[in-house]
Amino acid sequence: MTGKNIFDPITILSGVGPKRVIALKELGIETVYDLLTYFPFRYEDLTVKSIEEIEDKEKVVLRGPLISDPVVNHFGRGKNRLAFRMNVEHVIVPVTFFNQPYLKNQLHAGEEAVIFGKWDALKMQLSGIKILSSALSDKEENQEPVYHTSKHIKQATLIKLIKQCWDGYNELIPEMVPAVIREKYNLVTHKESIRMMHFPNKENDMEQARTAIIFLEFFIYQLQMQWLRKQHKMVDRGTPVNYDVDLLRAFFKSLPYELTKSQKKVVNEICKDLKLPIQMYRLLQGDVGSGKTVVAASAIFAAWTAGLQSTLMAPTEILATQHMESLSEMFRSQGLKVELLTGSTKVAKRREILEQLANGEIHALIGTHALIQEDVEFNKLGLVITDEQHRFGVNQRKTLREKGSHPDVLFMTATPIPRTLAISAFGEMDVSIIDELPPGREPVATHWIRPKQFTQMLPFIKRELSNGSQVYVISPLIEESELMDLQNATDLFRTYAAKFEPQYKVGLLHGKMSNMEKESIMEQFKHNELQVLVSTTVIEVGVNVPNATLMIIHDADRFGLAQLHQLRGRVGRGKKESYCVLIADPKGETGAQRMEILTQTNDGFELSEKDLEMRGPGEIFGKKQSGLPDFKVADIVEDFQILESARNEAAQILATTDFFESEEYALIRTKVGIDEQARHSFLD
Ligand code: ADP
Ligand code: MG
Repeated sequence: MTGKNIFDPITILSGVGPKRVIALKELGIETVYDLLTYFPFRYEDLTVKSIEEIEDKEKVVLRGPLISDPVVNHFGRGKNRLAFRMNVEHVIVPVTFFNQPYLKNQLHAGEEAVIFGKWDALKMQLSGIKILSSALSDKEENQEPVYHTSKHIKQATLIKLIKQCWDGYNELIPEMVPAVIREKYNLVTHKESIRMMHFPNKENDMEQARTAIIFLEFFIYQLQMQWLRKQHKMVDRGTPVNYDVDLLRAFFKSLPYELTKSQKKVVNEICKDLKLPIQMYRLLQGDVGSGKTVVAASAIFAAWTAGLQSTLMAPTEILATQHMESLSEMFRSQGLKVELLTGSTKVAKRREILEQLANGEIHALIGTHALIQEDVEFNKLGLVITDEQHRFGVNQRKTLREKGSHPDVLFMTATPIPRTLAISAFGEMDVSIIDELPPGREPVATHWIRPKQFTQMLPFIKRELSNGSQVYVISPLIEESELMDLQNATDLFRTYAAKFEPQYKVGLLHGKMSNMEKESIMEQFKHNELQVLVSTTVIEVGVNVPNATLMIIHDADRFGLAQLHQLRGRVGRGKKESYCVLIADPKGETGAQRMEILTQTNDGFELSEKDLEMRGPGEIFGKKQSGLPDFKVADIVEDFQILESARNEAAQILATTDFFESEEYALIRTKVGIDEQARHSFLD
């Protein structure tokens, strides 16, 4: 064969016809290299064991001579059992195989056999799974790779195909990680790591191979992220925002409070970015109530003093309206004109807004998805902010950005992403963190009760209400069915209404209501016309009603920690002591543990670390929008140390011109996509 290439299509292999091509493609395998890097997810321990070491039901390998020829018995319809006895260290062990009569030909009295099977300690017998080649027994340890299979592609097929690829192509496996880095971290070569994954000789092999492959995955990912970041920072991308420091200082003076140290720090980080002729691409993280709004306002204000417009997009109308109120308040005496644009903005008003936006009369436009409609045109958009960024799709965020010419971009999120994870995982963004709450905040006292204790809690609710406070009640989340969500919320609403009306008014808020209806309910709650608000999680983000002091969450175990923390953040916003009651009957230990954690800490970052440990990163950000790739072997939590190393090496290597020129890096450059960059937009 001439010109063999590691990226040859699998059709080149023997035993791969049109049907297999389709089946393999379903597993993500299209080339020889794909097969070679289709790694096992675990290994079967095929080490020969002695009988004393074996536990009941354990899968083991036994070795010894057969002391009888196998006998096949038929029973039932089409069922049969093959049985023989073997001598394992002078113990006579009965062995049976079900429905594999053809094995008879491979087994003969007096000959040695190596059998993999499941041990029954009581009966001292082995239920056979398969016969292994006796060559295996020569080694001390044997590990057989186990691959993810599909209906049409079996274990044995994969093993054969991978072997075929290895035999034909192993010479062609390219090196990926530069030699200096490999030496530094003691990493085996790419070729060697592939060999060790599929054909391990020692237990140690798998570990070494995994480390090298995880490093490679992270290395490529970090190069991609950091390369993107370098692009944002290229001098000709982005306009310097020459804001007026004195005006900005005066703005801070005009606020009813002083910024916290943490707020000042992030404002400085943002202002520094604004001033530079680069495009800001920054993630602002801060726990619920940490005061992100005023930070956003500072950036908007700064842009305004430089003659640039800003826009702030929020995921719900309630939130957008709230931002509008806060910002109007802050900007009241400043001469900065803010407007609100949502799906329910009246046609005439909308027309007026669009006109004033285009001619520059409006300086900041707050809104929902309505902002990204095509006819929304800015005069000179310099700053784009998205609140609760994970709620928007990548394309929505992009569309908004493209309304300006490389505007500075700020993402805000109250879902605390563990610090370490954020820095490493979001390599393409700069990260600012507000890590303290404004002074005088009391932590929300959190209690966990069982559903049967519900009635015991009623006097407590009464007490809060009679103190003039308001109460949130969150109904259980039923993921499968919006209808059931509604049903639940309605039932709960009736329960509470029966207990507290007419003395107190109970309201209901759910996702099936129109925006107008929601708005109206929220307004009533804000103005204390409703004292109890029963709601589905539509209430979740950002809502600010300082007079509410009690948050009751039914079936709390159905929510993630981060979400529960968000919900809890709706109270504790005023001067009065606040409470959160989790009602849950969690199954299993983790469930109980999760409730306990919430009662113990009010720190969103600590919770997110725990959530990450217990549920993994996909759950925290929601996989699709997280921007995190699916690594084949690596795990950003477990392999965090390796991620850190890969990040450092990627940063160093990108700072050299060598990386962009040398032959040694050619393949990895292609992998990173650097040669193709010119054709792509760098963002998203
Ligand atoms: P979040 O980060 O959850 O969006 P907000 O911006 O809504 O938080 O702020 C929560 C509350 O804290 C608001 O009522 C705001 O006025 C207040 N706040 C923000 N910063 C400070 C500060 N430095 N000192 C006192 N109160 C503050
Ligand atoms: Mg907020």
